[in-house]
Amino acid sequence: MDITLDTASHQYRGEMTAKLKNNSPDALDRAFFHLFFNAFQPESMMDVRSRTISDPDSRVGSRIVELPEEEWGWIKVESLLVNGKPVDFIHDGTILEVKLNAPIRAGKRATFEMTWSAQVPRQIRRSGWMNKEGIEYSMTQWYPKVCEYDHDGWHTEPYIGREYHGIWGDFDVTIHAPAGYTIGGTGTLQQDITSARTTGDWNFVAENVIDFAWAADPDYLHSTQNLGDVTLNFYHQANAEYDENWAALPEYAAKAMAFLNELIGPYPYPQYSVIQGGDGGMEYPMATLITGERSLRSLVGVTVHEMAHSWFQAVLATNESLYEFMDEGMTSYATSLCMRHLFAEAITSGYAHRSSYSSYISQALSGNEEPLITHADHYQTNRAYGVAAYSKGEVLLAQLAAVMGPDTRDQGLRDYFAKWAFKHPGPLELKQCMEAASGLDLDWYFQYFINTTHTIDYAVQSVYESDDSATIELERVGAMPMPQNIAITFENGEVQRFHAPLVMMRGHKALGENETLLPDWPWTNPTYSFTVPTTSRIVSVELDADRQMADVNRDNNSVQFDAQWQRIYQRH
Ligand SMILES: [Zn+2]
Repeated sequence: MDITLDTASHQYRGEMTAKLKNNSPDALDRAFFHLFFNAFQPESMMDVRSRTISDPDSRVGSRIVELPEEEWGWIKVESLLVNGKPVDFIHDGTILEVKLNAPIRAGKRATFEMTWSAQVPRQIRRSGWMNKEGIEYSMTQWYPKVCEYDHDGWHTEPYIGREYHGIWGDFDVTIHAPAGYTIGGTGTLQQDITSARTTGDWNFVAENVIDFAWAADPDYLHSTQNLGDVTLNFYHQANAEYDENWAALPEYAAKAMAFLNELIGPYPYPQYSVIQGGDGGMEYPMATLITGERSLRSLVGVTVHEMAHSWFQAVLATNESLYEFMDEGMTSYATSLCMRHLFAEAITSGYAHRSSYSSYISQALSGNEEPLITHADHYQTNRAYGVAAYSKGEVLLAQLAAVMGPDTRDQGLRDYFAKWAFKHPGPLELKQCMEAASGLDLDWYFQYFINTTHTIDYAVQSVYESDDSATIELERVGAMPMPQNIAITFENGEVQRFHAPLVMMRGHKALGENETLLPDWPWTNPTYSFTVPTTSRIVSVELDADRQMADVNRDNNSVQFDAQWQRIYQRH
């Protein structure tokens, strides 16, 4: 791509030569490109959706319909040759439909040569001119981006403000900006940053990325930090109040990347850029745009979250419109663990994922939950989307600790990344990797938690003690079955742990020390009892003492016996 930015009109011209290979077994007689900037116009689908949804995103709301025309976003393809010959094309909102003169057959290549003009919208959502912190250009979702064709067919979702899917490619992008601007973005800068500032010509090269983002501002300060072969770049505007936090950020970012490399697998790109811009935090390959006027904890938190997306959004690149929880949820999971690692002293108690558990549980109990499998654009409310994608998605992975054990779950995650990097996995591939790591059948877990809104609620129903044994009866109150982890504390201080797998798991997790395997619980049976020999009286019986299970009602999970010794407990 060759891009010329006019900072007076906020318009730019683009030329692109895209060499595409049809890796599918199908002949393609059409091609599609995303034209995201066309969303930033009155009456666009994004505008109407943003104004009519019952709980509007405050960053958008009615801001698009109120834009003066000179602040609209638009992108118009002016010419398009395929293999050197003109083709017909139609602008349809945020999608360009190309009618090919001849199909691109399986395994064949085609060269698209395109020119376009575009206007950068006033910054409303993620991209645009002049964000609220005064960053001039946040250039994301800004160029005609090839739509994905995969085993599910074409993915030509009209842009309404969330989630992306794209093909991997090698990018060579030259941007001509006025001298004095600094540009950061996806890829590796091919010249010295000082000389690029002087000439205004910026050439970035990026291999094997699904997108290309950049940001430009004349006031950016630039610093770097190295982690092995990877260079971390930081771009922000001087600000007396926040400079100290930005000065501390590089060391945290390097520690975070080292942690994520261990948790998931090695970061495969040569650089990562943390760039002040946009409207909060948004992930792109090799880069993120974040707002910068933040406390240290918030600045590190958003950086860690967006960086963690590198593994899930950029490298695994699950179709996040269809399976948003596999991007945002798994990223949130990794973020929680990384933040606990970085700020160990600040988290004095509790569980790293606790805020996602409580958001998910409160949404489930509200009656407004929609299944995780809902297409990201089509949730009835922004809240239902947010809780499903981020919180329930995080719980999906965290909760596997109760099913297969934390270490096996961690191994399954690393196997999943190693096996499916650069291959667009979906829920099936994640399930298969977790099954392979654990040797368990996990169909039921993924089926219930992804495709339904059934909830988990288990209870201690009764405890009957005799002189040398105790019989404990458990009840499945909620519809979703789960294996049970039971802790019994005795008067002599001893704690014994028990694990009751489900029949349909065809096995059980690796048992911990002092953990006893119980017979399988058939999911059809609402209750389950077991008898344990005792040498001391029971003080308490507790289900899920480690808080791994998203039990929507914990009040019935445990029984505590007080000093007035009760021999029999029966729940009412
Ligand atoms: Zn995210």
